[in-house]
Amino acid sequence: MAEADSVVVIGLGRFGASLALELMAGGTEVLGIDTDEDIVQSLNGELTQVVRADSTKPEVLRQLAVNEFDRVVVAIGSDLQASILTCSVLLGMQIPVIWAKAVTEQHALILEQLGVHHVIRPEAEMGRKVAHLVRGAALDYIEIEKGYAIVKSAPPERLFGTPLGKTGLRKEFGVTIAAYKKPGAEWHNADADTVLEQGDMILIVGPTRKAEGFAQLR
Ligand code: ADP
Repeated sequence: MAEADSVVVIGLGRFGASLALELMAGGTEVLGIDTDEDIVQSLNGELTQVVRADSTKPEVLRQLAVNEFDRVVVAIGSDLQASILTCSVLLGMQIPVIWAKAVTEQHALILEQLGVHHVIRPEAEMGRKVAHLVRGAALDYIEIEKGYAIVKSAPPERLFGTPLGKTGLRKEFGVTIAAYKKPGAEWHNADADTVLEQGDMILIVGPTRKAEGFAQLR
């Protein structure tokens, strides 16, 4: 159980359960912990192990040998006190990598001040992402860091039929087309000889505004 590819997920609400199931689907062993009996029952058999326990109690986490795992995700959101106490106990146990979900900016700040290694705000992050999808022609959007993004979209028609190396698009638009996909085919890395056609998909890499602007060209 406590091998490199094993993760503890504490709090199996909507976010924690979805994360735990995705880890399982990718072959990672998951110990799930939640105080709610119904939740524990519903995930029984779906995760490597599911335990009903209160993660704010150090002796409970020790009994479950949580310290033998490399990574722990604290997915308790709405109960601020339980989230903070759990993170504090885990940091005291010197877990090498702790991820924790925060629901507000203040919650995130407290977890960062405690020393939690990765603090995430799924609702805020997803809201920002969806704004980009709603606004434009992007079919998918990942902001790598503030101001730099990867955007999936259809290519602008003006590129059809010309090898990418001859379009001058890096100079003109300040973006790179990193990959393309023909209908029904796999993704391929794009190079100077790649010729795009109607129906293709592309991955645009570049400064967020430029990549998004490029995705909106027709
Ligand atoms: P979501 O919005 O993803 O559903 P919630 O914050 O509502 O997230 O759910 C968090 C989960 O964490 C709930 O299932 C709750 O039972 C569980 N939880 C809350 N406190 C503790 C605790 N001290 N120990 C273990 N699990 C807890």
